[in-house]
Amino acid sequence: MDMLIGGKHISSDDLQEVKNPYDGEIIDNIPIAHRQTADLAIKEANDAKEGLVEMSAFKVSNKLFNVCEKLKDNKMDLAQLLTMEVGKPINESLVELDRSIETLKLAAEEAKRIYGESVPLDAGLNGKGFFAFTQRVPLGVVAAITPFNYPLNLTIHKIAPAIACKNTVIIKPPTEAPLTVMKFAEILNEEFPDGVINTVTGYGSEIGDYLVTSPNIDKISFTGSVTTGLMISQKAGMKKVTLELGGNDPLVVLKDADIDKAVRGVINGAFLNAGQVCMGVKRIIVEDEIASEFTRKLVDATDRLVMGNPLDENTTLGTLISEKAAMQVEEAVNNAVNDGANILTGGVRDGAFYEATVIDNVTQDMDLVVNETFGPIAPIIHVNSLDEAIEVANDTEYGLQAGVFTNDYYSAMRCANEIEAGTVFVNKQSTFRTDNMPFGGFKNSGVGKEGIKYAVSEMTKTKLIGLNLR
Ligand code: NAD
Repeated sequence: MDMLIGGKHISSDDLQEVKNPYDGEIIDNIPIAHRQTADLAIKEANDAKEGLVEMSAFKVSNKLFNVCEKLKDNKMDLAQLLTMEVGKPINESLVELDRSIETLKLAAEEAKRIYGESVPLDAGLNGKGFFAFTQRVPLGVVAAITPFNYPLNLTIHKIAPAIACKNTVIIKPPTEAPLTVMKFAEILNEEFPDGVINTVTGYGSEIGDYLVTSPNIDKISFTGSVTTGLMISQKAGMKKVTLELGGNDPLVVLKDADIDKAVRGVINGAFLNAGQVCMGVKRIIVEDEIASEFTRKLVDATDRLVMGNPLDENTTLGTLISEKAAMQVEEAVNNAVNDGANILTGGVRDGAFYEATVIDNVTQDMDLVVNETFGPIAPIIHVNSLDEAIEVANDTEYGLQAGVFTNDYYSAMRCANEIEAGTVFVNKQSTFRTDNMPFGGFKNSGVGKEGIKYAVSEMTKTKLIGLNLR
């Protein structure tokens, strides 16, 4: 598949294979772009700015609604492509498509709500006799750099609000899974003038880095790992930057919890997309009193997951993004076992598959839970009190989301107030997200918020206009 730049299909002499992690088959080839191609995209996106700014909010909104309809028409085809390039079960891909449609719809609505406010300058010294108001002005060109795990919805979380507030966009899709995003860009381009949306594929270290350092790009909206995010923050200069980074989210189960509900929370939180979720449940912190009942029920529920062909609708656990990724998970689990943890179920790798694995007696200093392990792992850490549960939950460099299971109102509020994370859910696991909520972590999990209204705020600048009426 070609890149789309200024409405034209562009290729490259260098191509890269996109492979299905399930069977290793080549799905397509994509161009490996170099700097000249990125320059072309930067020029086209800058040239298209004026036309988009002149378009009425009414028209931008209608066009985004039209894209929504087209996405609905292409839902099954895109879901199958997504499953083939990422290896996630088809039912999960269909959910990602539904959420993508919802994200676009929210942006189409938000396009009509880009408000400023009147400012009472007479509240300041010498301000009497002025009338002043603010406007939210687009930044210009937004570069969207996105990861492999939810390539479509996470990219739409950048493109849709950017266009809603009249920025043009250059997308650098994930190298491992670029195809669904590239197809979506083609759909969007049918509605908007050429140059409003552009795709540049290639290596992050070359193309991504070039976009980050370009003086002709006004904003970097990045979702990916902490390592890459830190590099971007050091290189972006005066540009606005939003960084949605990794997580190491806790699921706290207190002694008065509804255990069945907590078990469902782990199944949905630790094994979704084979555990490759930024806000996935990565550490299960359980009060000792209920640990044996909880663990027994968790193992039973885990053993009911169906690992298999991701295109089969009965499959509930697909592959990881690559065999290499599965080998890294295998190594992390084996190291934890060598350090004293014990596997209760799972723990076997087959190519890019890794079994859903429950691993008990994990301690908070083991690499398995110090690092963000991106795989279908449910590591259990035992604690003896609410205080200790909060202390362990906060013992991480990350702070994306968190979930606490308890029926005690006071314990719930202590966790909500004291766990350092962008979101704390009570009686729900951290993977829960609606696409309108403010989303973004504390600590190393990121800078800035997404969720359409919040992304719009980060993709506009405030201009004050003051009229001297004296
Ligand atoms: P990654 O950081 O390796 O890559 C993300 C994107 O950055 C890719 O498009 C890649 O090509 C590009 N890139 C790589 N090097 C670059 C550079 N030097 N300059 C600019 N761009 C560069 O992440 P990944 O492995 O694709 O995704 C997994 C990570 O993403 C995990 O850490 C996960 O937690 C995180 N993530 C975060 C969120 C969130 O919303 N907070 C959501 C999903 C994934």
